[in-house]
Amino acid sequence: MWTEQAYAFVRERWTAGASAGQISRGLLGLGLHKTRNAVIGVIHRRGWRKTDAPKRVGVVYKVKRAMRATAKARGLVPPLMPAPPVQDEELAPVDPRLTVQRLQAGQCAWPIGDPKEPDFAFCGRATEPERPYCAHHCRVAYQPRPQQERKKRDTSRLASFMARIA
Ligand SMILES: [Zn+2]
Repeated sequence: MWTEQAYAFVRERWTAGASAGQISRGLLGLGLHKTRNAVIGVIHRRGWRKTDAPKRVGVVYKVKRAMRATAKARGLVPPLMPAPPVQDEELAPVDPRLTVQRLQAGQCAWPIGDPKEPDFAFCGRATEPERPYCAHHCRVAYQPRPQQERKKRDTSRLASFMARIA
């Protein structure tokens, strides 16, 4: 005989993620001999789904997400995924003739192109506060992963540029 207690047990175990076989064995512990198939039959007739589980898990997840979002807004937590590497040549200079002589404070000093070539220029976009580069080139210059590599490259880039204009 199925009792309300047995139904409640099945529902609770099922929505908690137990398999029908585990529930069947659990019922045996309650003195009810119900086969796995009988358990499945009840679950289907009653229309219980695993997603009917108490929303505890979801709530915890949401809270964690909210906490993460708050912490992130305060700059405490890095984003979950590292930002994809930023391509450093994807922006064109705002002014193709923006040379070192024309570059002004507050303009991005990221060199674009080859200093040997006539089309060489600086990016020239508005810089980020306290940075020599615009938002885009800050991301390129300060991206975390290939930093060592990038630093080396920047240094040699700058060195070759300096050698050019010296
Ligand atoms: Zn820039």
